Amino acid sequence: MDETKYIWMDGKLARWEDAKIHVLTHTLHYGMGVFEGIRFYNTHKGPAVFKLKEHVKRMMDGAKVAFMKVPFTDDEIAKGILDTVRENGISEGYIRPIIYYGYGKMGLDPHGAPVNVAIAVWPWGAYLGDDAVRVKTSRFIRLHPNSTYSETKICGHYVNSIFASCEAKEKGYHEALLLDYMGNIAEGPGENLFIVKDGKLSTPKLGNILHGITRKSIIDMAKNEGMEVKETDLTLEDVYNADEAFFTGTAAEVTAIDSLDDKKIGEIAPGPVTSRLKELFTDIVHGKNEKYHKWLAFVND
Ligand code: PMP
Repeated sequence: MDETKYIWMDGKLARWEDAKIHVLTHTLHYGMGVFEGIRFYNTHKGPAVFKLKEHVKRMMDGAKVAFMKVPFTDDEIAKGILDTVRENGISEGYIRPIIYYGYGKMGLDPHGAPVNVAIAVWPWGAYLGDDAVRVKTSRFIRLHPNSTYSETKICGHYVNSIFASCEAKEKGYHEALLLDYMGNIAEGPGENLFIVKDGKLSTPKLGNILHGITRKSIIDMAKNEGMEVKETDLTLEDVYNADEAFFTGTAAEVTAIDSLDDKKIGEIAPGPVTSRLKELFTDIVHGKNEKYHKWLAFVND
């Protein structure tokens, strides 16, 4: 990975190579922690973080359900993120804040373990590459909503994502698609899914999926463009027979889907709607669309 200079640890910037934790860190063993993935982009006014407030809020909401008493406010963490980006002096990249139970207590009950916070940033290009991806339905289903709080980014949830992702890659695909416990489409290991049919956009409704911030942005952008958007149950058949399909996510941004289970989706990927939304999204994150400046936190303001 591309190293940068500093990592924010509990309120102070540590040098990258010194940002270490103890092997008996509670979250390392049991996965009860919460993290975010955020991107910042180069704009005419310097680097800008996309949807900073929304990401911090989702992480703090996750911390609450994980019984964590976070020793920082939302505003302090948001400032920590902006400071970390600024001090590292890179213009575009990925931000990884994490709230974790630290060293001092073992056993499942985390009460008594310290709650620590870290923020790292590094340059990170297109997560799934620039081309349309070949996707495989996973034998692993998304976590049952009664097993956890499935709308949060709890560290341990990602065991499920990693199983699905490794299975798909082992079989020669770029990415997996997970169904929910009822057999409807849920999401990718780290992406939400959209389909386009007859010019209308559909995406799985909330309940069994992560409340994706890119997903919400695409819904709002598409509606502003006059498109109809439905949040609904989707079946595999809906995706096989779609005109277009694409993934959304902070890491994946907008990634066209070429095929699902070797069935080609639509005539070409990316199709016209995917291309239009991707272009609009790219302009927005780079600060080229005034109307959406409110979605950006400019690091040097
Ligand atoms: N689903 C899962 C399981 C994810 O991990 C992510 C990435 N955070 C997404 C969807 C996309 O969410 P966002 O657009 O907020 O990055």
